[in-house]
Amino acid sequence: MLQDKVALVTGSTSGIGLGIAQALAASGAHVVLNGFGDAQEIEALRAGIEQRYGVQAAYQPADMARAADIEAMMAAMLARFGRIDIVVNNAGIQHVADVDAFPVEKWDAIIAINLSSAFHTTRLALPSMKERNWGRIINVASVHGLVGSAQKSAYVAAKHGVVGLTKAVALELAQTGITCNAICPGWVLTPLVQNQVDALAAQRGISGEEASAALLAQKQPSGQFVTPEQLGALAVFFCGDAASQVRGVAWNMDGGWVAQ
Ligand code: NAD
Repeated sequence: MLQDKVALVTGSTSGIGLGIAQALAASGAHVVLNGFGDAQEIEALRAGIEQRYGVQAAYQPADMARAADIEAMMAAMLARFGRIDIVVNNAGIQHVADVDAFPVEKWDAIIAINLSSAFHTTRLALPSMKERNWGRIINVASVHGLVGSAQKSAYVAAKHGVVGLTKAVALELAQTGITCNAICPGWVLTPLVQNQVDALAAQRGISGEEASAALLAQKQPSGQFVTPEQLGALAVFFCGDAASQVRGVAWNMDGGWVAQ
């Protein structure tokens, strides 16, 4: 379905981004991975995607907090593939603290990585998408782009910002073949959430399993985590013809979190 398309997935060395990159590759797209981690493990992921799906997979180590790194990454992608068709803005970090105790450098990093990076990749990918009048921009926001939670001021602000950016960009492109949409996951058991599970387990003196169940019980009525594979399937849907008139949505996949 996505043969010959070239997709960038930011923050794809782990968790949701990796699930989305694998789903796009399974649909035939060449993928560019990005994110931090052990060099050997990243190379194994990259080579594994090429082998399993018969597509080209590249890796770009850009720090998504830095505009100059993002510019260099997009230029390198264009130099190698000559096109950018799909951008999945997924890189993100979390920090949990009351707003009056929130470390200023954490605020700045969350806004830069979770929000501003999507502005930079979007502005830099659009000229290439416009050449063929086809493109898909998928922003991985969060249920926290739709509702708030205490102790997550920077994250909630950034994710609401991502949903706003999604709508504005979708409207600018409404009469083109380029769509822009957001995905809003509830809890997904990735390293980002494992940190919160571990913190709750330590705080309450309970097991990891009990802490996971307690975390889900607070917010997610299904009592089950969303999976990276399910989010990958949604991203593939957004890339297909059936979704060509899905524009500017913030689509939650959250076990019922925001239905409450
Ligand atoms: P994760 O920690 O498993 O993965 C984050 C990825 O981003 C990793 O590849 C990491 O290396 C990369 N990354 C972090 N900082 C970076 C930087 N400065 N530059 C480049 N890459 C960087 O987390 P995840 O849970 O898979 O989160 C992915 C996205 O999904 C984030 O935007 C997160 O806010 C969002 N999200 C997660 C959940 C959840 O429950 N896990 C829920 C809703 C939304």
